[in-house]
Amino acid sequence: MLSEARRLFKMDSTQHPQCAFPAKLRDSSLLRHQAFIGGEWVGAGDGAVIAVLDPATGTKIGDVPNMGYEDTMRAIALAETAQKEWAARPAKERSVILRKWYDLLLANAEDLSAIMTAEQGKPLEESRGEIAYAASFVEWFAEEAKRTYGDVIPSTKPRNRIFVLKQPIGVVGAITPWNFPSAMITRKCAPAFAAGCAVVVKPSEFTPYSAFALAVLSERAGIPAGLLNIVTGDAASIGKALTQSETVRKISFTGSTRVGKLLMEQSSSTVKRVAMELGGNAPFIVFDDADLDVAVKGAIGAKFRNTGQACISPNRLLVQDRIYDAFVEKLSAAVGALQVGSGFEPGVQQGPLINEAAVQKVERHVTDAVSKGATVVIGGKRHPLGNTFYQPTVLRDVDDSMLFSSEETFGPIAAVYRFTDEQDAVAMANKTSAGLSAYFFTRDLDRMWRVAEQLETGMVGVNEGLISNEVAPFGGVKESGIGREGSRYGIEEFLELKYVSLSQYSA
Ligand code: ADP
Repeated sequence: MLSEARRLFKMDSTQHPQCAFPAKLRDSSLLRHQAFIGGEWVGAGDGAVIAVLDPATGTKIGDVPNMGYEDTMRAIALAETAQKEWAARPAKERSVILRKWYDLLLANAEDLSAIMTAEQGKPLEESRGEIAYAASFVEWFAEEAKRTYGDVIPSTKPRNRIFVLKQPIGVVGAITPWNFPSAMITRKCAPAFAAGCAVVVKPSEFTPYSAFALAVLSERAGIPAGLLNIVTGDAASIGKALTQSETVRKISFTGSTRVGKLLMEQSSSTVKRVAMELGGNAPFIVFDDADLDVAVKGAIGAKFRNTGQACISPNRLLVQDRIYDAFVEKLSAAVGALQVGSGFEPGVQQGPLINEAAVQKVERHVTDAVSKGATVVIGGKRHPLGNTFYQPTVLRDVDDSMLFSSEETFGPIAAVYRFTDEQDAVAMANKTSAGLSAYFFTRDLDRMWRVAEQLETGMVGVNEGLISNEVAPFGGVKESGIGREGSRYGIEEFLELKYVSLSQYSA
């Protein structure tokens, strides 16, 4: 299998292009410039590459393979072979190997964090947090691997037994984004491997190095060749291969609603299972009985983490009349104190945005709001640091006519709306086609239940802004997606039910 991959890609796996990597790694072998297919480090069939940039400086970090349809089809074929062998192993054995992968992720956390900050830009402290979060899915699903229990159902007939087995779905295509380059891979791969599946991952073209480093460690942990494949390059043709292949039985996607819809459409020709973690437009409601300091802390954590580039980041802060001015004032003071800079600088809390297109989107949202009557309280411009840095911003008097209501901003902008009463707040919160996460702050226990149940989202944070972890089900309703990741539900996404009716062969 390995020599087959080498022959197909005609690549010398020792060939490394020059690169200006902005950090020193303890273990430089974690930094790879080739894709990982069938346990081999390979280039594109035609040798094409794409550049990866450091968003803080705009300089090139290195080149990675620009693969396409054919390369992906070969990865799928190698995954198919590996999956059969892996699924035949006892769950306990798969669990032990996943646990080793978890240990290696933690042991190499500093290098993995540096690689992430280099290509994604987030502050090193946040990268460390993401590596711990990414590893937590591997630990959790190493445990869950042993608990994919089926059922024995009382039969409708005499001398008959009904069993329900849970079996791995097979080969999975995973397409992941750049905002959480490691966690979005482990959140899909760990339950897939635990269930007995193989995965072909297409990481974002902006953050392939984090994916490669995870693959190096998977190899060291004993995850067999072909089980985890990382294919980089042309998104549309890799996506076509993954969705059109009859071997791939499931597409697990995290990214924009636009691309998610396209992948669902493409997956229909082979009737694949799909899991879609798509965009949000999270409301963050502050009622006038809330503790304002707790609400401000929650807003900073939820809104400004990853420089606002998260699908669960509050896009609309809805604040009740009576406390509106006080909240805006406290929030603006906290936002003004955020330190902006390169993710490698100690103390920095806000890194650059991922690219120029991201900055332009933020500018468009701010300009649109100001032209319609919103006021910039703090920020509102590109940061003097240049490149893709943008000032952490608070906008007040934002209303429904502005783009924040209909589009996800994905940047460091707190857009503050005003509401009068609870009914008004819930109606405003639900007035969106998205339904991923919502947050609200109150000290009224009745209201906690009432509002939590009325919000049309898959996740709700009450008096807190940070809600992601490995033990709870992550996912959305409406156009925010289908399926759940993490938690005991996460592994079910990679299992098929098979009903077996067993009758006695003699009368
Ligand atoms: P974002 O706007 O956050 O970058 P995208 O949905 O564009 O989100 O990207 C998420 C992932 O989807 C990335 O890995 C990207 O390369 C991939 N992607 C983008 N377009 C397509 C496509 N047509 N088919 C398959 N994958 C795609």
